Amino acid sequence: MHYISTRGGMRPARFTEVLLSGLAPDGGLVVPLALPSLSADCLEAWRCLDYAALASKVIGLFATDVPEADLQTMTAVAYGPQRFPAPVVPVRDHSAVVAGLHLVGLSEGPTMAFKDLAMQFLGQAVPYVLDKQGQVLNILGATSGDTGSAAEHAFRGQDAVNVFMLSPAGRMSPVQRAQMYSLHDPNIHNIAVEGVFDDCQDLVKTLSNDIAFKERYSLGAVNSINIGRIVAQAVYYVWAWLRVTDRVEERRRSDFQVDVCVPSGNFGNVYAGHIVRSMGLPIRRLIVATNENNVLEEFFSTGIYTPRSAEATLATSSPSMDISKASNLERFLWSLLGPERFSRAWRELEDCGSLDLSDQVERIREEFGFIAMSSSHAKRLETIRFMSSHGVTVDPHTADGITTALNLMEPSFPTLVLETARPEKFLGTVGEALGFPQPIPNTVSKLLALPQRKTTITADEQELRTIIATNAVTANSSTFQ
Ligand SMILES: *Cc1c(COP(=O)(O)O)cnc(C)c1O
Repeated sequence: MHYISTRGGMRPARFTEVLLSGLAPDGGLVVPLALPSLSADCLEAWRCLDYAALASKVIGLFATDVPEADLQTMTAVAYGPQRFPAPVVPVRDHSAVVAGLHLVGLSEGPTMAFKDLAMQFLGQAVPYVLDKQGQVLNILGATSGDTGSAAEHAFRGQDAVNVFMLSPAGRMSPVQRAQMYSLHDPNIHNIAVEGVFDDCQDLVKTLSNDIAFKERYSLGAVNSINIGRIVAQAVYYVWAWLRVTDRVEERRRSDFQVDVCVPSGNFGNVYAGHIVRSMGLPIRRLIVATNENNVLEEFFSTGIYTPRSAEATLATSSPSMDISKASNLERFLWSLLGPERFSRAWRELEDCGSLDLSDQVERIREEFGFIAMSSSHAKRLETIRFMSSHGVTVDPHTADGITTALNLMEPSFPTLVLETARPEKFLGTVGEALGFPQPIPNTVSKLLALPQRKTTITADEQELRTIIATNAVTANSSTFQ
């Protein structure tokens, strides 16, 4: 399989050539040039596989330049018992609560959010590619919580990779802070910036735009546009479909359709669903759930896409979805419009700050299966209460997904809501919903008690440059094993 850029300025390249580069050289996103199909026979043949083995098969369709045995080794570590309890992704049927409702547990990994599933694969695949190329990588990133901790847990202890993660001092939840700052591995550098998330992101941008500095210290990113993360996310859509159809009569399986509902922000998670649906996995509809920051809901209902500024982005009680510019939507628009119309549309977006595709709304719904709805603080709390009254505790992001599913699902099709975080990570909002503070589970109190380590800096690029220059891994200092 080959990858090209949405903006047309990149020669077709293989998976290992695009894995380490965030953006394509022309500033676009890398997309698969053509998708293979997932036949019913192939899906049946995969039914008996465990998660790690299935992951090597699905990822293998995208990473055709990596030998299958190497992929198997990587996924066996990434999804092994050290990091995830079996079965890695539990699929729970809650039809007793609401007919057809299923929850797909994507948050059983070390940082209790779905980002672990993609990031743990990168934690194996990135060092693999670096080793082949005799390179090292210093990951520079900014986080408001989930992504940074998932990256640190995925790359801890790797010789050829250092992680420099900026976070806004005092502005993350205690659990998020503990998940990051309690790591003492020498290749993990937690940098608390006196400021807000945007200050962190500005620092990252400044240094990444300094090409000489970037090259000298082999700086890179593993952000949500990384194609390796997308392909690793494709796995659990296939897995979830297989587990739901395990319970279906054999002769009805091959075209058994399900709806999938995805709590969304950057459009990375649901874009992976779009890919496998395009390859033939029987997904009827992809339901995009947003919170009050509803640019995606607006786009899918009206065809008008208007990204908003950081200042116009609300701070909500499902904070990991507080995103007003859905980076991965560019990939979908490219497949929707084709290269030529896409490039005109993208220019319109850059010139006017808004894009009008109202003539495509019906096609997006009928042909691509997308529908969307937004949630709110009140609905989120109500859903947490409703599920809890049936003995199921969910986190605020998953609650947005369930809220949306309850409104849009149709009884004759099972609806799979992706659980994107564990409730333990957001106990404050869960407690608010249920009317009393939630007991802190043992695992969490142990985590909170661990000694924490971080370096605090002002929002000053010079301080950051010094830290990187002093600590960065270089091709000579790293030992390849
Ligand atoms: C990142 C995240 C999301 C949003 O996922 P996207 O891929 O950005 O759409 C939703 N829920 C949680 C808990 C997250 O961490």
